Amino acid sequence: MSEEKKSLNFIEQIIEEDLKNGLPQEKLRFRFPPEPNGYLHIGHAASICLNFGLGKKYNAPVNLRFDDTNPAKEEQEYVDAIKKDIAWLGFKWDKELYASNYFQQLYDWAVDMIKQGKAYVDEQPQDVINTQKGTPTQAGIESPYRNRSAAESLDLLERMNKGEFEEGAMVLRAKIDMASPNMHMRDPIMYRILHRAHHRTGDQWKIYPMYDWTHGQSDYLEQISHSLCTLEFKPHRPLYEWYVEQVYNGGLKPKQREFARRNLSYTVMSKRKLLQLVEEGYVNGWDDPRMPTISGLRRRGYTPESIINFSELSGISKRENVTDVALLEFAAREHLNKIAPRRMAVLDPIKLVIDNYPEGKVEYLKAENNPEDETAGYREMPFARELYIERDDFKESANRKFFRLTLGKEVRLKNAYIIKGESVVKDVDGNIIEIHATYDPLSKSGSGTPESKRKVKGTLHWVTAKHSVPAEIRIYDRLFIDEAPDGHKDRSFLEFLNPNSLQIDRKARLEPNLQDVKPGERFQFTRLGYFVVDPDSTKDQLVFNRTVTLRDTWKK
Ligand code: ATP
Ligand code: MG
Repeated sequence: MSEEKKSLNFIEQIIEEDLKNGLPQEKLRFRFPPEPNGYLHIGHAASICLNFGLGKKYNAPVNLRFDDTNPAKEEQEYVDAIKKDIAWLGFKWDKELYASNYFQQLYDWAVDMIKQGKAYVDEQPQDVINTQKGTPTQAGIESPYRNRSAAESLDLLERMNKGEFEEGAMVLRAKIDMASPNMHMRDPIMYRILHRAHHRTGDQWKIYPMYDWTHGQSDYLEQISHSLCTLEFKPHRPLYEWYVEQVYNGGLKPKQREFARRNLSYTVMSKRKLLQLVEEGYVNGWDDPRMPTISGLRRRGYTPESIINFSELSGISKRENVTDVALLEFAAREHLNKIAPRRMAVLDPIKLVIDNYPEGKVEYLKAENNPEDETAGYREMPFARELYIERDDFKESANRKFFRLTLGKEVRLKNAYIIKGESVVKDVDGNIIEIHATYDPLSKSGSGTPESKRKVKGTLHWVTAKHSVPAEIRIYDRLFIDEAPDGHKDRSFLEFLNPNSLQIDRKARLEPNLQDVKPGERFQFTRLGYFVVDPDSTKDQLVFNRTVTLRDTWKK
């Protein structure tokens, strides 16, 4: 679809409306504000694609702002991983910023607010403050500290920050309205005491600003025109606007607008739960290929293009919804089909001997790298008397619907010859250990002979016994067996983990063209699916991950 023909999403409509009402286009500015308390996941990709997509569309800068106001959970490792993932997706941020850059400015503003009688230090314990909040239908109770003098609050705030009081001993609250129908306006907390070293400011601060007090002011300082966040912040919007009003000193007032969180079936997306999967060893790290993280998807073989296309397909919505993971897989297949070179791999090999093929002879057959890409060219594959095919591509006796190899019937070996099953060799237990066949020397693929054009029902992939290289193949299934693992009231999401989400196969044999692959290279293994070289792979021990199978089961 061309850019013009696509219908605008509702965020774009809001922006268009603002432009029409006089907002100059050069004032447009966006930000992506991750908290560095975990790795980015496919839900974040929705926000990344939205913000950076708007940046591209309107030629507007997009800041990367780390929302680092909770030192208890934040780490440099996460900052680095987040930057790596956004860059890998192909997006360029304008400025790299940190909410912690604004700690002093926020503090100064808080001091002003106390002086103006708009904030106070509350010495009540958190649970008392909570119960005083009231309910949406019942007004809250004012704190006995609400009307203390500014001088007293100022003194306490300063001492809070010097570390004179324990965590939880007191907080700074905005003085708004304990009877507001909006619970967020009932004297929200602006600062709490945290005796924790911050990954950037060290132990300079003993008090840390709350999200609401930080976010809008950061947006204002950076002159963000549209601050896009997920729906749960909609009720915070009046507070966001109230805070900006308190510190307003000219310039543009940022506009918070909300869109629905992206949820994906058969997984969990909260960072807390993903962290639990990592810390308790249910997966092998944040980049485990079963994780819905960007780094997991990368290791699984997803391309940035497929993730961006998935975002496009799943769209931006005003209402909560769950996107079918099959759509993500569809997007992967669609792109990999265009770019992944074709190679042959046999995952569960059984030996096939071509009795009438000369012993010791090796032929190099021409094989197309990618029929979807004319520029991809050809490779050469050795062919010889002894081959491997997939165990389940052969049946000693089979019904008419079995189009693979059986005794007395013909199939084509892809890019090679037509063969006919002749006999089998069995071990003492009666298991087939070798298949014998004959080939038609005139039936070589692409030779143009009448024999080569003969129609046979099945085409099998194969490798030679001598030239093929061994590999470890990791086959992944969904991490959870339930569509919505965290949607069960009295049961933990962990109860729905799929015990068979990883299967490691060490028998595989690959065509020799795969000998020198590098981690991250992606291929289509003929008839099997898309695979990527895992970072664990070495020259002596190749390791591949299956990204997705070939079949598209997603129904439009
Ligand atoms: P989590 O609940 O997973 O910890 P979060 O919202 O706390 O997520 P942040 O790092 O604060 O994570 O999010 C950064 C940005 O990404 C925010 O603007 C947030 O709204 C957005 N975001 C996070 N999760 C999703 C999601 N599932 N869908 C769309 N946007 C998301
Ligand atoms: Mg958050």
